[in-house]
Amino acid sequence: MSRQPELVIANATVVNSHGRQEAHIAVHDGRIAGLVDAAQPVPAADRTIDATGKLVIPGGVDGHCHVAQVTGRFRTLDDYRTTSTAALWGGTTTIIDFGIPRDAQETPLAAVLHKKELATESRCDVALHGAVVSWDETVPWQLEQLAAEGVRSVKMYTTNRGTTMADGGTILKVMREMVRLDGLAYIHAEHDPIITDCTEQQAEDGRIGIEHLHRTRPELAEEISVKETLAMAEYTGAPVYFVHQSTPGAVDLVSQARERGLQAYSETCPHYVTLDDSVYASTFPEWFACCPPMRSPETVTALKERLVSGAIHTMSSDHSCYDLSQKRERTDDVRAMPHGLPGVETRMPVTFTAMASAGATVEQFVSAFAAEPARINAIPGKGRIAEGFDADLVVFDPAEERTVNGAAMHMGTDFSPFEGKALTGWPAVVVSNGRVVLDADGFHDPGAVGRFINRNGFRQHQSAASEPTQLPAAAL
Ligand SMILES: [Zn+2]
Repeated sequence: MSRQPELVIANATVVNSHGRQEAHIAVHDGRIAGLVDAAQPVPAADRTIDATGKLVIPGGVDGHCHVAQVTGRFRTLDDYRTTSTAALWGGTTTIIDFGIPRDAQETPLAAVLHKKELATESRCDVALHGAVVSWDETVPWQLEQLAAEGVRSVKMYTTNRGTTMADGGTILKVMREMVRLDGLAYIHAEHDPIITDCTEQQAEDGRIGIEHLHRTRPELAEEISVKETLAMAEYTGAPVYFVHQSTPGAVDLVSQARERGLQAYSETCPHYVTLDDSVYASTFPEWFACCPPMRSPETVTALKERLVSGAIHTMSSDHSCYDLSQKRERTDDVRAMPHGLPGVETRMPVTFTAMASAGATVEQFVSAFAAEPARINAIPGKGRIAEGFDADLVVFDPAEERTVNGAAMHMGTDFSPFEGKALTGWPAVVVSNGRVVLDADGFHDPGAVGRFINRNGFRQHQSAASEPTQLPAAAL
């Protein structure tokens, strides 16, 4: 360090996904200038935060957020200022949003450029995924432009016919482009004919209200779609990432594909390892309207086991900020109501509580919360506490317990699906690009300082991100 650091987090137990060490963390110019062994004196700094007795983990990377999302006649109620503020309150310092064409006229490129413009209001760093709904001869050129903008992943839906669904031919061709452009295919996998038929049958039987949501989208529909998509990934050689996997069968298919040599990844969300389908028989079933729906208690347990075993790589919020008035407009028909749950702010404590209860270490939590989302999404400088990495840091107290009060949170809505739950593992201090944005005095709005992250190519990043230095691991 040539000059005095702006910030030192002293006496920290630094926990990365690969191990932990006792150190003082020096921050200079928004980056980690160095880790000083805790046996050495605390370096002088403009500001020193003492983390004695606390853990310090990398700032969270949430790979799946929908900001200002338009779906049919519904629009989520947050903007970048709100979502990024809520993210920081929850220990997440990087969010990845989606540029999804809002209608048949908007191109994938226009959708991304629109989101990039909105993102200038962000308080934290932002990256974007693209999305393709239908193939035409301009798509390869548009994907090249996206790659040049640092948007190296493209989402496609195998369901939602008539809105976001891409047919098999489109998915196959986009996968080929991802191989050519060193990108990553992002897939929402649910078999559309089964979902459509099952939903129609439920409607005919008069069981189409929100209390029946889980019966309209069977586990089988998710698994058959994962299987079909993996075959296309194998055929094209494209790396593939499955969003919000909600069944152990779907996760196992991805694990087996990896054993065959595919680059295939599993994401799940906090609600799928925490809530089961009994929520649809509760007083407020509309709090839990999302696709896929919550599953049986047995499925939840088996999914959580796969999170702890490492078969699931990332834990993302799938943040979608509707409020209760939108959720309650059409509770009589799951086809007409907006799906998606607010979650960018609660991702840390819900994930930590679920993983700790299943015997995971803090290192494993850091892996799903920050390290793997950064690695798989090819985000440079994130997901690890090491010299030269961005100074995105969370002083974290695994013993701190709070009860969720949706109305008191900072997302653009009036409820939380985790309302009333006692959760452990909340952020005490959050540092984003070297700025202390949350501490004992509360939130310090840094202004619209969030940066747009130009992501690396997928293969380029995986080969450059060599194995991290092994540090001595310790028990929880
Ligand atoms: Zn989503």
